[in-house]
Amino acid sequence: MNGQARNPHAGAPFTDGDAAIAAALEDVCVPALMCSMVHLTGDPSWIRGAIRPRSAILNDYVSGLTVDEQAEVRARAVPAIAAWRDAGCPVPATPSPELVKEMMDFMAAAPVDPAVVDMFADDLHLDGADSGAITWGDEIPAEARADFHVVVIGCGESGLLAGIRLDQAGIDYTIVEKTDGPGGTWRDNRYPGARVDIGSHFYCYSFEPSDHWSEYFCRQPELRRYFEHVMTTYGVDRNCRFGTEVVRAVWDEDSATWDVEVRTADGGTDHLTANVLISGTGALNAPKMPDIPGMDEFAGPSFHSARWPDDLDLTGKRVAQIGAGASGFQIAPTIAPEVAHLDIFQRTAQWMFPNMNYHRAVPDGDAWAMRHLPFYARWFRFLMFYPASGLSIENSRIDPDWHDPEGRSYSRANFERRTIFEGWITSHLEGRPDLIEKSMPHYPPSAKRMLQDNGSWLKCLLRDNVELIRTGIERVCAEGVVTVDGELHPADVIIYATGFRHNDYLFPMTIIGRDGVNLREQFGDEPTAYLGITIPNFPNLFCLYGPGTNLAHGASLIFQSECQVNYVLDAIRHLLVTGDRAMEPKRPVHDAYVETYVSEINQMVWAHPTVKYSHFKNKDGRIYTLSPWPIPQYWGWTRAIDVDDFDFV
Ligand code: NAP
Repeated sequence: MNGQARNPHAGAPFTDGDAAIAAALEDVCVPALMCSMVHLTGDPSWIRGAIRPRSAILNDYVSGLTVDEQAEVRARAVPAIAAWRDAGCPVPATPSPELVKEMMDFMAAAPVDPAVVDMFADDLHLDGADSGAITWGDEIPAEARADFHVVVIGCGESGLLAGIRLDQAGIDYTIVEKTDGPGGTWRDNRYPGARVDIGSHFYCYSFEPSDHWSEYFCRQPELRRYFEHVMTTYGVDRNCRFGTEVVRAVWDEDSATWDVEVRTADGGTDHLTANVLISGTGALNAPKMPDIPGMDEFAGPSFHSARWPDDLDLTGKRVAQIGAGASGFQIAPTIAPEVAHLDIFQRTAQWMFPNMNYHRAVPDGDAWAMRHLPFYARWFRFLMFYPASGLSIENSRIDPDWHDPEGRSYSRANFERRTIFEGWITSHLEGRPDLIEKSMPHYPPSAKRMLQDNGSWLKCLLRDNVELIRTGIERVCAEGVVTVDGELHPADVIIYATGFRHNDYLFPMTIIGRDGVNLREQFGDEPTAYLGITIPNFPNLFCLYGPGTNLAHGASLIFQSECQVNYVLDAIRHLLVTGDRAMEPKRPVHDAYVETYVSEINQMVWAHPTVKYSHFKNKDGRIYTLSPWPIPQYWGWTRAIDVDDFDFV
């Protein structure tokens, strides 16, 4: 290795015997193994034979290979891996770009569009380097960096990432976080059953090894520990002020700085000065309680799903769960076995994506392969990323020529999907036409956020102690919940799994920009930002996961944050290099972007008129929360700022 660090993805050396290798391979994803074998042997014939993936479908690790084909590959791989082990597990040579493209085509079971290859190559990190690391040179005067301070609001996944990159850039920064540690939504949401529903090997930072996940879709405690681990690994904790909440930020034109007012843990007030203010507050952090008459009268404990009490024991209790979106879908099956009775109040039925890996532990053999086989984990990540990359955003576009008189599908492909999803529901609820009727959505699949199910939700509905209630709620009273048909549903505990104030970006902070403009007033119910990041009248304010950047068509928000942080750091670099004190998007640039945004988003399924309630929509039914952009396009836009888009001071 000539004193150089070993490529972290090249596989940790091992001495396991052939039988152990063979046993481990029983658990692996064979297409990813085949790519790993190309690295390990240097022989591309592994991916040039007749055995090759027939599909690349989200959350499917088999890609259409038959059992016999998989067995053949495994049998061939054992001696090759043993030989590599006997040679001391040398770091393989980096494949040529042409061969990497061929491997992508192989994994994708189709030619990958050359226009998007760079994005995937950038994420693969085959050379072992973190492609997003900040490596500024001496074009930036040391004194410029020394005088520059950044305040980051929030230490969730995006704020933590911003801290890592600012550290690498040698810039002084403070992360202000209202809770007692990192993780953001993955710290707040401690409800039973909380787990990620984007594959864990993709729902993590591209630059952190991902061989440690214990489940393919890990639970909240593991994700929370991950963020704590990343924070300390990168030393970001040195710059964090936990238990401190930003209440107000005011732009000062003369000094070209933000005055950031914070409420400290002891209730006091403090002020920080920032040349740049980065919002890493996320978009799903302010709980939205419903406005149901009588909520205050309830005699027992009641709380929002994101504020789950630490000491709550539901054993033997009658529980009312109001709301059954992504959170409610995870809570009900988890608590149902312990409660005496569970009433689930669901206003709108939900589509669910069948996913048999959803609760699956990563078997020992696959974990071994992630750790020891060169680039196996990277190609496994690619298999998560590719089908979810938004290449297929066109699948979300409403086909104007598609005729469905009941509005239950919006294109032929959607109609076909609907048939599959209907089959998933009816097959699990066979013999219960009442439940099938209640559970079958009357809008097209994907028009609200798709949920994941491995059968646990539908099995939960079949339990004797669970009732799915689709009748509207009239009021809450001391004894429980009263529906509009006058029936009282007695409850000891009420859980409000009613979602978040998605449209209220930076709520409840007061942000005052140039000339005293109040951000909340400027946003109104139609929040917009150029690329979802910068906002006219708000110089040097950068949003991560800002307006119009939530993803309903795939990918991972952590990947999205990597794009945005890259862009923000490039903006900061520009300020430091030029000596400009402030930057703000040009109004015409912002407005043209918003015009295209609105036109695009209105053609997408999330705007479908059959969807009455959706946290994606504002009160007028318009969408300012979601991204309509293909992931590779957004990745391309955020590689670097375009100086022509901004006014500089
Ligand atoms: P949500 O998807 O907005 O669901 C809220 C639920 O409460 C829906 O069933 C909604 O009904 C219902 N509701 C809201 N107001 C109501 C009212 N006044 N009366 C009756 N019912 C009412 O919220 P969420 O489940 O917390 O999820 C929000 C987002 O958080 C998700 O989209 C996702 O992005 C994220 N999340 C992710 C995960 C994960 O990765 N595993 C888990 C949880 C949350 P309607 O459908 O009729 O509006």
